[in-house]
Order: sequence, then C-alpha cells, then structure tokens
Amino acid sequence: MKEYDIIVVGAGHAGCEAANAAANLGSRVLLITMNMLNMAQMSCNPSIGGIAKGQIIREIDALGGYSGIITDRTMIQFRMLNHSKGPAMWSPRAQNDRVLFSMEWRKMLESNRNIDFWQDTVSGIIVKGKKIYGLKTGLGKTFRCKSAILANGTFLNGIIHIGEKSFSGGRIGERAEKDLTNSLIKHGFIYQRMKTGTPVRADGRTLNFDRMEEQTGDVNPGRFSYTETPKLSNQKSCFLTYTNSIVHEILKTGFDKSPMYTGRIKGRGPRYCPSIEDKIDRFSAKERHQLFIEPEGWNTIEYYVNGFSSSLPEEIQFKALRKVVGFEKAKFFRPGYAIEYDYFPPHQLNLNLETKIIEGLFFAGQINGTTGYEEAAAQGIIAGINAHLKINNKPEFILKRSEAYIGVLIDDLVTKGTEEPYRMFTSRAEYRILLRQDNADLRLTQKSYSLGLATKSRYDRMIEKYKKVSDFITLLKATNLSPEDVNVILEQKGTNKISQKQKAATILLRPQISLKEMINEISSIKQYAQISGDISEEIIDEIEIQIKYENYIEKEQELANKLVALENIPLKAEFDYMKIKSLSYEAREKLDKIKPKTLGQAGRISGVSPADISVLLVHFGR
Ligand SMILES: Cc1cc2nc3c(=O)[nH]c(=O)nc-3n(C[C@H](O)[C@H](O)[C@H](O)COP(=O)(O)OP(=O)(O)OC[C@H]3O[C@@H](n4cnc5c(N)ncnc54)[C@H](O)[C@@H]3O)c2cc1C
Repeated sequence: MKEYDIIVVGAGHAGCEAANAAANLGSRVLLITMNMLNMAQMSCNPSIGGIAKGQIIREIDALGGYSGIITDRTMIQFRMLNHSKGPAMWSPRAQNDRVLFSMEWRKMLESNRNIDFWQDTVSGIIVKGKKIYGLKTGLGKTFRCKSAILANGTFLNGIIHIGEKSFSGGRIGERAEKDLTNSLIKHGFIYQRMKTGTPVRADGRTLNFDRMEEQTGDVNPGRFSYTETPKLSNQKSCFLTYTNSIVHEILKTGFDKSPMYTGRIKGRGPRYCPSIEDKIDRFSAKERHQLFIEPEGWNTIEYYVNGFSSSLPEEIQFKALRKVVGFEKAKFFRPGYAIEYDYFPPHQLNLNLETKIIEGLFFAGQINGTTGYEEAAAQGIIAGINAHLKINNKPEFILKRSEAYIGVLIDDLVTKGTEEPYRMFTSRAEYRILLRQDNADLRLTQKSYSLGLATKSRYDRMIEKYKKVSDFITLLKATNLSPEDVNVILEQKGTNKISQKQKAATILLRPQISLKEMINEISSIKQYAQISGDISEEIIDEIEIQIKYENYIEKEQELANKLVALENIPLKAEFDYMKIKSLSYEAREKLDKIKPKTLGQAGRISGVSPADISVLLVHFGR
C-alpha cells in the first residue's frame, strides 16, 4: 500500500487550495476526486469575490494560494464593489468563465510534481489508535497517509429536489457519496443536514437584453492577485431585470408541490441567499425582486439567472420566468434545484481545522457548514498548511480575528458553530478597517513566507511595495505646500483655499483631494513620483488610504492589541469545566463542548458571559 504524506479528498475549491498549499510546502500529496473533469467546479454562480468574499480571496492570494490568480486568468468582468464608500468596504468581484476556471485550476495542480491524482470515491476512513491511518475508496483500494483532509462539499448523502421529484446526487448530474458519513459516525462524529439551492440556466440567444439594464465592468478593471496576472482588456456585461406580481402569482401556484413548503426538505438553508419562493413568501409586500443575468463564459450562450434560485417544479419556474421583462421567449438549459447534504458541525474541529476526535484528520469547506467558494478555499489553504505542519511536528498556523477574515471565519465556525450555511459578511469582523482588501499582502505575506509557502519573489514584491508607500508618506508629511502650489486645485475641487503653507499630507486629508490629482498638478510631488520609479495605482491607493484613514486605523489597531492580551492566555485542552461551579451552567456546558484554546476564544462563545471570563481568570491564577 503506497503511503502519502497527505491525502486530500475532493477537488473542489477547498480541496484544490489544500492540495496546492501542502504540496508547495513540500508534502507528497494525493488528490482523490470523483471526477477529474470538473475540478474547482463553480457549483452555483460563475463569480468570485463580492462583499467580504473578495477580501478573503485577496488574503488567500497573499498567503500564496491560487484562487486569486485563477480568478484573474479566467475573469470576464471585474468590479470593485462599494468603491464610493470607505476602503474597509471596497470588495473586488469578478464574473468568471466557468469552464476556464476549472481548466486553469487543473493545469495549475498538474504542474505541481508533489501532487498525484486518483479519480475515485473515498468511502471510509481507516483509523489506528485515534490517529488517521488511511482511506478506503469505492473501487476497493486503500491508501495510507500520515494526514488526510476531507473536502467533500455538498456530496455526502446529497439529495436533489425539483418540485415533487427528488433523487440522490452531489450536484446535478453527479452522484452522491453514501458511505463516508457512516464511517465518520462510527468514529464518534456527529453530523447534521443543510440545504442550498441554485437557479435556472437560460439560453442567451433567446433573451432580449435590449429590454434589460446593462451592467458593465469597471472602466479600469482591477485584479485579485498581488502578483503580475494579466489585466483584463475586454469585458462581458451582465444585465439587470426584475420579477413582477404576475411572476409571483405563477410561482405561488407551485407552493403546494415545493419540497420546502411540504416539509420534505429538513436541512436549514442560507437565510441571506433565499430561493425566489422564500423571497415572495417572506417579503410579501415587495412587488418585485432584482434578477442579475450573468454570462457563464466567453464562448457560451449560457446565462445564470442570479436571484431566481428555486426548487419549485420546473414547468412553474419556466412559466414564471417567461413573464420577466427580457425573458418573454426564453428557452432554458436546466431548472433550478435545491440540494440537502450532510455537514459536520464545526465545534468538532480545532482552530487548525484538525478534528478533535481523530488526530491527523482535517475537514475543510462546505463539509464544515459553510457556503461559498471563497469560504471553502480559505479553509482549504489553512487545512493544507496545518496538515503539512502537523506531520512535520511544527507549531500550528492560526490567523487571529484581527489579522484576517480567514481568522474570523475559522474562529466563528469553531467557537460559535453554525446552524445554517455560514457565509462571510464584513459585519462579522470586529476590525474591518484593519482587514481591508488592499493590505492583505501586508498582513499575511510575511507569515506565509516564514512558513515557506509564499515565494521569495512574492515576498520581495510586498516589501518593495510598502517601502515605496512608506517613503512617499514620509515625503507627504514633510513637504510644505504653499498657497501658490495648491490653491488652484483646491478651488477647482470646491474646497477652501489655504492662506499659509500646509503639509501635503494635511491637504490630502480633505475628501475632495486625491493623491492622483496631487501627483498630476503639484510639481514637487510629481517630481518625487517620477524619480521613485513605478508608482502604480495600487501604491497610490495604499498611500491615500493610510493617510486619510490614519486615525481610524490607529484606534482599531489599539483595540485589537488590547484584546490580544486575552488571546495570549492559554486554556488547557483537557480541562474539566464542569467542576467550576461558579461558572454558569450554560458556560460550563459550552466550554466543555468547545474546549477553547485561549481565554479570548472562550469569551466569544455565545453563553459565556464577562462574569464567566472573570471566574476563569481567577481560576487560572491571573
Ligand atoms: C446547488 C448548489 C447551490 C449553491 N449555491 C450557492 C450560493 O448561492 N452561494 C454560495 O456562495 N455558494 C453556493 N453553493 C456552494 C458552493 O458551491 C460551495 O460552497 C463550494 O463549492 C464548496 O466548496 P467545497 O470545496 O467545500 O466543495 P465542492 O465545491 O462541492 O467540491 C467537492 C468536491 O469533492 C468531490 N467529492 C465529494 N465527495 C467525494 C468523495 N467521497 N471522494 C472523492 N471526491 C469527492 C466532488 O466531486 C467535488 O469535486 C452552492 C452549491 C450547490 C451544489
């Protein structure tokens, strides 16, 4: 039996990042997946990023992951969402070519000599003395490993629902895996059910885009990766249209056949990504709902109908959609559907994503109760790194909540658990002004480089960028500008003129003034920019953010530093909380179940009050 360092199960978004990270760190990896033709398949919309999710992809990229690079190579549209708001809210979002995305991931993984591939279905884990020993497959093979990462997505006992029809499947047209859950249950894991859904796909040749609102990409499209990925020179548009009262009435005629309303679906679905029938039911006063019509790629006529996720009978989905403006003559490729699947409540994990029950076994992605490609990929890279560190007896790699959205994601999952599919929102992070999309490289590349994952060239690039940023800021803080230097642009921009000299950095604090304009209009600053060499837009943005938001950034950093003190007080892994009677009963139960690693983590468990934390502080002698 061949032995691998690490076996990754499932080449979805989590599995691809996990395999890649572990292999790039030097582990011998086997990637077992059901179908090599659809690696990193986008099961739902052909899009990466968006609010909070875009920040996650930037973080994965800064850590040396590939989701950002692949997104850049395969995008057909780019938009920086929330650009009119503060930089904490800026969120890159791409529309991608679904087929190219999958092909590029495969190409990337196949170019890695440390990864072997095997197309098969993993049906069970082999455990010796509470440690992972290997995996069994549907073809009757066994593979030995030092560590394994399960990234099965929606495939464990998946059941697909379309109206009154339901059948087994991991995604439409793909089979579900039926034995692995039982194998895990036998070793003491508990599982629950969740559900999610996807909309209709339409034939673009039959849609009347002239009757819809066109949504073009950014005039100057950005990128996800901090490396030199190609810039988008050509973009495809999305389109906006709306449902109406007739559409709603038609959809309602199918409610008695809906698997959700008839109670056939038991699992919880994503509240913030509801099906169209849910939207009509829950927001009955709303006369219309937005539908974004998204192209599936450069060379296809297929369109994704974002906002029309449904598990109603297909004839009702189609009949209702034809009453939407622009869809009067629409033909469809396939109906929307809902899928129910097993997931493993994530309190069964440590913060490094290793399971508490079986040493060396890691879970990543939707199997942990999350939803979304970005959330899955983020867990994948962290599981890949930690599986590698584990087998090399090195300390685990955990990102703090103040360091990355990825830290928030994993801490939320492990500490608070999740009853419904978990997706990232900016509101989940306490330190949004620190966790911006522009500075993920500053926050994370050094850490990853120290691990041996981020390459030297990536690290050097980051150092060079921030040297330019800091030198330029020093100049702006030192340079005095006279009224003659700036009053013309101040007047043009409708802001007060100055009567005596002011520092360039002080002028830049004014919301009406941008650094780009200062470089163009003020000769001393222009000169400095010219002699400094390549001052890219990325650098200009960074300088401007650091100057304009300096006070907010400092305040948040101080707050984060204070809380780090609690994060640094460790708690014992095997401590019996039930014996501290001065803790509330709820706190004892929750602490016993989750076994937090630090006092900071204990404080975030719902049901553990500040009074309970004081008890713990006293108990542990502080
Ligand atoms: C119908 C549907 C609708 C969705 N809607 C949304 C949405 O609206 N918004 C959103 O953000 N996300 C949505 N998602 C979720 C999104 O697709 C997932 O969150 C994301 O793909 C999860 O990534 P993953 O890597 O965990 O798993 P997946 O992308 O599901 O990949 C799992 C991989 O593992 C393989 N595999 C599974 N079991 C085995 C096994 N035993 N042996 C070998 N290989 C195995 C599969 O073949 C697959 O390649 C939807 C998913 C589906 C299916």
